[in-house]
Amino acid sequence: MTDVSKNEYASDESPTTDVHRVGPTLPVLSDIATGAVQSPTPTVERFVNHFLRELNFGQGVLLSRSTINDQYIALAKTVRKYMMADWLDTGAKRREGGTKTVGYLSAEYLLGRQLSNALLATDLQDIAADALRECGIDIADLRAQEIEPGLGNGGLGRLAACFIDSLATMDVPCIGYGIRYEYGIFRQTFEDNRQVEVPDSWLSLGSPWEFPHPERQVRVDFGGRTEQYTDDEGRERSRWIPGWNVLGIPYHQMVPGFRNHTVNTLRLWSAKATQAFDLQIFNSGDYAEAVRAQTFAENISKVLYPEDSTPQGKELRLQQQYFFVACSLHDFIENTLPQDFDLHHLPERIVFQLNDTHPVIAIPELMRILVDIKGFDWDDAWDITRQCFAYTCHTLLPEALEVWSVELMGKLLPRHLEIIYRINKNFLEEVAEAFAGDEMRIRRMSIISEHPERSVRMAYLATIGSSKVNGVAELHSQLLRDKVLPDFSGYWPDKFTNVTNGVTPRRFVFLANRKLSDLVTDAIGDGWVTDLEQFKKLEPFADDPNFRQQFAQVKQANKERLYNLLKARDGLDLPRDAMLDVMVKRLHEYKRQSLKLLHIVSMYDGIISGRVSTESVVPRTFVFGAKAAPGYHIAKETIFLINSVAQTINADERVKNVMSVAFPANYNVTLAEKLIPAADLSEQISLAGKEASGTGNMKFALNGALTIGTDDGANVEIRELVGDDNFFLFGMDEPQVEELRAKGYDPESYYQSNENLRATIDLLASGHFTGGDRRLAAQFVDNLRTQDPFMALADYQSYLDAQARVDEAYRDSDAWTRMAILNVARTGFFSSDRSMRDYRERIWNV
Ligand SMILES: *Cc1c(COP(=O)(O)O)cnc(C)c1O
Repeated sequence: MTDVSKNEYASDESPTTDVHRVGPTLPVLSDIATGAVQSPTPTVERFVNHFLRELNFGQGVLLSRSTINDQYIALAKTVRKYMMADWLDTGAKRREGGTKTVGYLSAEYLLGRQLSNALLATDLQDIAADALRECGIDIADLRAQEIEPGLGNGGLGRLAACFIDSLATMDVPCIGYGIRYEYGIFRQTFEDNRQVEVPDSWLSLGSPWEFPHPERQVRVDFGGRTEQYTDDEGRERSRWIPGWNVLGIPYHQMVPGFRNHTVNTLRLWSAKATQAFDLQIFNSGDYAEAVRAQTFAENISKVLYPEDSTPQGKELRLQQQYFFVACSLHDFIENTLPQDFDLHHLPERIVFQLNDTHPVIAIPELMRILVDIKGFDWDDAWDITRQCFAYTCHTLLPEALEVWSVELMGKLLPRHLEIIYRINKNFLEEVAEAFAGDEMRIRRMSIISEHPERSVRMAYLATIGSSKVNGVAELHSQLLRDKVLPDFSGYWPDKFTNVTNGVTPRRFVFLANRKLSDLVTDAIGDGWVTDLEQFKKLEPFADDPNFRQQFAQVKQANKERLYNLLKARDGLDLPRDAMLDVMVKRLHEYKRQSLKLLHIVSMYDGIISGRVSTESVVPRTFVFGAKAAPGYHIAKETIFLINSVAQTINADERVKNVMSVAFPANYNVTLAEKLIPAADLSEQISLAGKEASGTGNMKFALNGALTIGTDDGANVEIRELVGDDNFFLFGMDEPQVEELRAKGYDPESYYQSNENLRATIDLLASGHFTGGDRRLAAQFVDNLRTQDPFMALADYQSYLDAQARVDEAYRDSDAWTRMAILNVARTGFFSSDRSMRDYRERIWNV
């Protein structure tokens, strides 16, 4: 190692290749486009120099006095520098090119940590590690310092993050638009086995990845009323006289493609009051009143709603939705398009992809811009608007489909409500013409529902106002057509399509599973990183004993890494050689963590009751990871019970070495990256017809875990691809669920007729896991025996039988490894790059 003291100061000379973009030397556009500004060629020496400069001149500290956080920020800003020229270049290229852009509108982006991804994208991992070593720093410590921006709840937000990664890697013009929540998804801790939510202050130590642009603020109006008037040409028009407004400040982030010199932009909006505070009131001494307006405005981007799949119809949430959508449309039309752009051609330049219904208010907003502000005729505006939007539906749960009461909408966005009414009126006239006299159909298809209160059905508005509507897996798209929006798919069959979700191989294979990546690259080269179908070339290796052995070693090493982490993080001691059985995802009844718990308790009951000997069981370690929405009572009870069961089982000598249960708190992307590569078994056990797609299922299969799962979401496609022999299927399929539901589902009959199930539930109810207190498990047990809305008891026996097949398969570890390799080899389809190709071909035409 070189002498650190020598590196105390950054050298003063500025390398000519450095990026200096400020002040009078700002180059003209052609400079950027012709590459006059280039990233410095990376060398360890340069990197050390840049890093120290950031530390000295950015953080204002000496290396010897710097904290880990100083070092992390200096490192992040150094890496950022190496992406800067590409970012500026990409922006210039996009502006000059006049090509069509994808505006991805999403209320959530669950990005995960940025540092590792940026180092990967720029191919700076080794240089940065060496450079920091020269400074006496272990880069791993700095990676660990980053708080991941948790600006999403789960699958939907993570999907948005995967998609923008893929679009950058494929060099597709894309701006991701969203909200810069000051507090993201809560940090979960456990107290007395119960979930406690702690605010996620991800910005508290500074965020080196964002670029605020307060000078590009956008004003967003709310409230007030509308007024009718006749314009100069004698046309009846409406104008909005708003009641109040806020400012949206854009924060830009880089979205680097994988080693392709493309860096797209993620633009997140932060709310700010138009006036900081009322100085007169402040001077009069009423400080709280003086800042009231400011607090009110800034609440809009204060915190992410922690609901997943069950939205709350809260006013603040509608404010959030309109806020970010209004900022984004304004940004694109006024600041991104050329000054004199003729908006009749807007569909040639933008397609806004609506990630679920959260941004759907963008449709009437674009109408308002075109008609009220730009003076377009209604019909022209509508024609343009519909071409500019496409809608992705993410659910099958009726309770997850957003509706807004007309009263609230009228109060907050009176002009938009008027526009929605007119859209609806025109549409229903069209329907009435097509289906003369079919009153029922007209009522069914109305955007406005009358019960239980007058409200706006956002999914209908989205469907009517978009050129395409897609589901997120084959089965889901089918059910969307047949069950959720049947009248609409009958009316517009060509509008409906499918794009099966995917995950980015950069983060979820390359970064998360370096050892597997190296093994695979040795075998088939590294083309898979941007062309995951190349995993197919691994198939022959499944029959190579040597490769199987190496593959098994990788899995074991990933387990060791995980167990070391869980030991350090949570004080958990887990056995090294058990099957690792993992269920990680949001806690929701339809996902059926309850069924997993029944399996665990059954296994435990079998052993302690003497029905099963410890010698005969396949040892298992069960891992859960799940956050529950803070107001979701039964979900939180389930967390409590899982923790209680874990505590009891882990302390019971009778099952020592054969069963352990771990529930590390705060499942997030960072933890997923450690857990998934270590898993042997992936639990994807939702009730058939409820999980739209799932993406966790894909991450596991790509990392060589076998799936035990129902015929649901993308599980269907995983099974088709890997083959029945390499997938553990159980449970009812969707038609069987429907049939049982129609017949009248009676959970108690399963309890009565299945002896093992009864023993399992009785043991849970006995207080055995809750310190003898029967009341503590009562709600969970009663819910299962009397309601069981997601039919866990109906699928119980089938699930246990499938688990027995899992045990059988695991006993032959070499055969298991072969199956695991085939899972990897055959699931390259689930790259989000492929999803993006499908969107381009089926929806965007970019
Ligand atoms: C992938 C992912 C999800 C989605 O998991 P599902 O099993 O598809 O519900 C949720 N949270 C995190 C942190 C993820 O990485």
